[in-house]
Amino acid sequence: MNLILFGAPGAGKGTQALELAKSYQIPHISTGDMFRQAMAKHTPMGEEAAKYINKGHLVPDDVTIGIVKERLSNSDCQNGFILDGFPRTIFQAESLEILLQELNKKLDYVIQIDVAQDALIQRLTGRRMCKRCGASYHIIHRPSKVEGICDECGSELYIRKDDNLESVQVRLETYLLQTKPLIEYYQKKGCLVTVDGNQDIKKVFADIQCKLGDKK
Ligand code: ADP
Ligand code: ADP
Ligand code: ZN
Repeated sequence: MNLILFGAPGAGKGTQALELAKSYQIPHISTGDMFRQAMAKHTPMGEEAAKYINKGHLVPDDVTIGIVKERLSNSDCQNGFILDGFPRTIFQAESLEILLQELNKKLDYVIQIDVAQDALIQRLTGRRMCKRCGASYHIIHRPSKVEGICDECGSELYIRKDDNLESVQVRLETYLLQTKPLIEYYQKKGCLVTVDGNQDIKKVFADIQCKLGDKK
């Protein structure tokens, strides 16, 4: 199954993608996670991306499309993939369409996780991320069992540099201007399904599974 998880920053894409990846045994491809890994290793691409990410701006399309192209060509995507955080611009969506054609793949669903704006700010400013596996926690809504430690892999949790109020506001504005138009784009293509992301994590996951039906 070839999926895109779509939604504003903080909608719960990463949280749901992790569960879906386990359940459907397909890779979770997060452009944000890939950029953060490159930043941690101080690769030239990571250094370039950091200039944009730390301010809450989008990384230029050519860089982003390049890493997705490489990742989707990997053999572990043969039985499907979950894209999280890509595409984020119309140009990225159009490039993805061409790329999938080249790879002889077809998009099954774009799952939009719809969350109210005020909840997004609260989620992002209370988020804690795992350094190693990228799992995300929340100080109120999803605390880890042991404070500061990931339930999944035992690594340390940290606060993302771009999860401060100032960057969050820029990211939400960027979402409205550059990313939200993709809803109409995918609606027209007939592959958009929407779930109410204001519900608790388990209920959102159940709703997504319901929308995907028996398809594997
Ligand atoms: P995204 O990948 O869309 O930016 P995350 O999955 O990282 O979002 O979730 C953002 C924050 O909100 C995290 O702190 C996460 O634990 C929390 N969160 C995710 N889903 C829910 C939910 N349904 N209800 C409350 N908090 C949630
Ligand atoms: P969020 O949790 O806010 O949805 P992500 O982890 O998906 O954030 O992405 C973090 C940052 O990485 C974004 O704010 C942006 O700067 C950059 N980024 C991630 N995906 C893309 C993309 N598809 N295009 C451009 N920049 C991206
Ligand atoms: Zn972890």
